[in-house]
Amino acid sequence: MRIDEFDVVVIGAGFAGAVAARKLAEESGKRVLVAEKRNTVAGNAYDYYNEDGILVHKYGPHIFHTDKDEVYDFLKRFGVLEPYELRVLSNIDGKFLPCPFNFTAVDTLNDPQRASILKERLHKAYAGKEQITVLEMLYSKDNLIREFAELLFEKDYRPYTMKQWGLTTEEVGADILERCKFYLSYEDRTNRNKYEFIPQKGYTSLIRQMLTYPTICVESGMDADNYLDIRGKRLYWNNEALQADVIYTGAIDGLFDWRYGELPYRSLHFEFRNIPQASFQEAPITVHPQENAYTRITEYTKLPVQEVGNRTCISLEYPVAYAREQEREEELQPYYPIVTEQNKALYERYLELAKSVERLYLCGRLAEYRYYDMDAVVESAFEVCERVRRQDHMGCGK
Ligand code: FAD
Repeated sequence: MRIDEFDVVVIGAGFAGAVAARKLAEESGKRVLVAEKRNTVAGNAYDYYNEDGILVHKYGPHIFHTDKDEVYDFLKRFGVLEPYELRVLSNIDGKFLPCPFNFTAVDTLNDPQRASILKERLHKAYAGKEQITVLEMLYSKDNLIREFAELLFEKDYRPYTMKQWGLTTEEVGADILERCKFYLSYEDRTNRNKYEFIPQKGYTSLIRQMLTYPTICVESGMDADNYLDIRGKRLYWNNEALQADVIYTGAIDGLFDWRYGELPYRSLHFEFRNIPQASFQEAPITVHPQENAYTRITEYTKLPVQEVGNRTCISLEYPVAYAREQEREEELQPYYPIVTEQNKALYERYLELAKSVERLYLCGRLAEYRYYDMDAVVESAFEVCERVRRQDHMGCGK
């Protein structure tokens, strides 16, 4: 393989890298090298069949949801996208309530009379809305609404935030708390998008298909840190000045050798258990904000339904601190950027450096240091392809 045979070098074969590689190869006739440090493709959406023939998600349960036709139409070319409606239950004081919370939580956590008044007031206060955030309810002028929001806050968000982030609700960024929704009805679907699905043969198969194209070359087990180098404004590959564009989907601080310090992440530890029974829990995912060290239990035979007989597989999800030096030995991955004001400012410093490097484009959750869902990553990859076509790397990041 000679690097000067490629027009574009993509670092990382997750959604960001794979979508960008395919688009540029197919629509712009680019010759693309995809360098992936793991031995697998699909990034954190990687899935595989376990010893019992159950499709499991190694880095946590992934359900794709989007309202965008453009995203859906692009993905459906690479595999059957099986429609799937996720329903999650949250364990509050031993009672399993739909998550996000809805009127079932009102009925369960209040006596019937109070529940009925509360629902009426919620309808009136937020007329015309289907969904609000718990933060909005916390700022309500109506005592009953506010008290109920405080109850949810104390029983769920406060203990969950401490477990998930190792931070208090005051320390964690508002955009995290704004993700906590409340349905003003008995709606029990977790997502309400035009498209919600899981690829029938899994994400790994979908991404493999995407990367199968005559002008795309995938090198797995290739860590770009060993090849890619930045000197001043120029990019080098194995000490050779690069003539190609580079789309980088790895961690931005690593790209610059952590010059300003490390961007903090939260990590997860997954404990997989094979269980000799047909069903373990009622829902595919249960959330446990209060007791136990884990935050979620996922049952893969329900994600979507997999008929494999009298056995099932679950994973328990334990949030843990992330430390870069443990990444290799303990398989601790940088899962969630901890997006506080201080960390955003540190990211901005790295972004300024990246902007000064010619032909460098950033894309994806690690390079953009964002809490991204897969649909947003696909959209970001679409945008990056446009910028590569225009040779406008300065637009990198947001
Ligand atoms: P990644 O998937 O992380 O891919 C980046 C790739 O780059 C990796 O394969 C990495 O090995 C590679 N790489 C990094 N550095 C280098 C290097 N130096 N050299 C070579 N390769 C390198 N989103 C949803 O939409 N729905 C969900 O249900 C959902 N559930 C989630 C559950 C969990 C527990 C987590 C943590 C995330 C979830 N997400 C979900 C988010 C989803 O995982 C991300 O949006 C998506 O994986 C981001 O894709 P990416 O390509 O940006 O990054």
